[in-house]
Amino acid sequence: MDMMDTLVSLCKRRGFIFQSSEIYGGLNSCWDYGPLGVELKNNIKRFWWRSMTQLRDDVVGIDASILMHPSVWAASGHLEAFTDPLVDCKSCKQRFRGDEAADGKCPRCGSLRITEARQFNLMFKTYMGPVEEEGAIVYLRPETAQGIYVNFQNVLAPSRQKLPFGIAQIGKAFRNEISPGNFIFRTREFEQMEMQFFVKPGTDVEWLEKWKAERLAWYAELGLRPGKLRMHRHSQKELAHYARDAYDIEYEFPFGWKELEGIHNRADYDLSRHQSRSGKDLSYFDDAAGARYIPYIIETSAGVDRTLLTCLVDAYREEEVRGERRVVLRLHPRIAPMKAGIFPLVRRDGLPEIAADIARGLRRHMPVFVDDSGSIGRRYRRQDEAGTPFGITVDSQTQQDGTVTVRDRDTMQQERVKIDDLPGHLRKRI
Ligand code: ATP
Repeated sequence: MDMMDTLVSLCKRRGFIFQSSEIYGGLNSCWDYGPLGVELKNNIKRFWWRSMTQLRDDVVGIDASILMHPSVWAASGHLEAFTDPLVDCKSCKQRFRGDEAADGKCPRCGSLRITEARQFNLMFKTYMGPVEEEGAIVYLRPETAQGIYVNFQNVLAPSRQKLPFGIAQIGKAFRNEISPGNFIFRTREFEQMEMQFFVKPGTDVEWLEKWKAERLAWYAELGLRPGKLRMHRHSQKELAHYARDAYDIEYEFPFGWKELEGIHNRADYDLSRHQSRSGKDLSYFDDAAGARYIPYIIETSAGVDRTLLTCLVDAYREEEVRGERRVVLRLHPRIAPMKAGIFPLVRRDGLPEIAADIARGLRRHMPVFVDDSGSIGRRYRRQDEAGTPFGITVDSQTQQDGTVTVRDRDTMQQERVKIDDLPGHLRKRI
C-alpha cells in the first residue's frame, strides 16, 4: 500500500476522516471529519485565528456569507476567468484538465484521440428562490476573499483601523474541480483561511516580503518539518488574472511538491473593480499623507483541509521499537486532537475510578480520553496512531502515593508525576 492509502485507512480506523455518504457508495471527493478529525481541524483553525488576528493589533476578523450578489463574481473576474481547460478522451471517455494532457496524450489510457480544450467555469451555480430562471442564479463562493473586499468600508470605520491593516476570515469555499483527488488535497468543497492586508501603494513589495516570512514561520510553529517546505515564485505565465506578483508555500507530499498556501500581491485590482462596478467609493483617505487612494492588497490564502492533510502526512511515522512495529502520528501537542490518554492498568482495585477522577479534573483544561480495554501496549499503540502526545497510567503505586506515570509519545520516556500536578505539567509541555 502506498503511503496515502495507508493514511486514508488510518484516518478511517481512528475516526479522523470518512468518505461522505459512504453507505451509499460515497460521493466523489467529498469527505466528512469524524470525532478526532473535527478536533484537529478546529485546533488548526483556532491556531491560525489566534496568530493572525488575536495576537496582532493590525488584523481584524469577519465571517461573511457563502452566497453573495452575482455582480461580485462579474466584478472579481471569476465569471470570465475562473476557468480550467477541459479535455475529453474519445477512447476511454475520461475527462481531465488540459494541463494533465500537455503532451497530447490521455493520461489514463495513452490514446491520442483527445478533444480540443474548452474552458470550463469552476463555480457552482444554483438558484435563489423558487423559480429556476436566469435572473435567480447565484454562485457558491469559490474563495472567501471577495467577502472581505466588499466589506472593506464596513470594517474600516467601526474597527478604527488605519492602513496598513488586514481583515481575516475562515470559511467554506466551493470549486467544481475537474480532477479532484489525493484524498482531501483537492476537493470540491473545502475551507479556506484567508487574510487580506490593505497597504499604501508603494509599500506593497515590502509587505509581501513580510507576509512571506510570517506565513512560513507559522507552518514551522504548527510543527511541520522546515526541510519539507519551500517558497515557489509564480512565473509570468502562472500568475492569476488578479496578481501582480505571487508566491506559493509548497510542501513535499508523497505525490510531489504542491501548493499549501498562496501569497499574492493583488495591487488595487479588487477594490478598483468593485468600486467601478458598484459605483461605491472604496478609496481610503490617508491623514498622514494627506492623500486619497485605492489601497493595494497583499493576500495570504491557505486551505484548512490541505493544511490538515499536510500535518497528517508530516506527522506519520512507522518505527521499529524493540523488534515491534509502531505507527505514530507525531502531531504537535498544540494541534493534537486528544492531549492525553488515561489508562488504568487493571479493571479492579479502584484503578478505573481513579482514572475517571483524573479525567474529570483534566477535562476542564484539555481533551483527554480514558481507555481501559486491552493490554497496556495496545492502548499505547491506539493513542500513538491518534497522535495523542501523553499517556497517563494509573497503577497500584497511584493508590499509595498519588502519582501516575506520564509517557511521552515521541521519546517513550516515562516519569512519575503527582496527580495534582498533572494539569500544570501537561500544559507546560503542550
Ligand atoms: P491549485 O493550484 O492547487 O488549484 P489555486 O492556486 O487555485 O490552487 P488558490 O486559489 O490560491 O489555489 O487557493 C488558496 C488555497 O486554498 C490553496 O493554497 C489551497 O490550500 C486551498 N485550495 C484551493 N483549491 C482547493 C481545493 N480544490 N481543495 C482543497 N483546498 C483548496
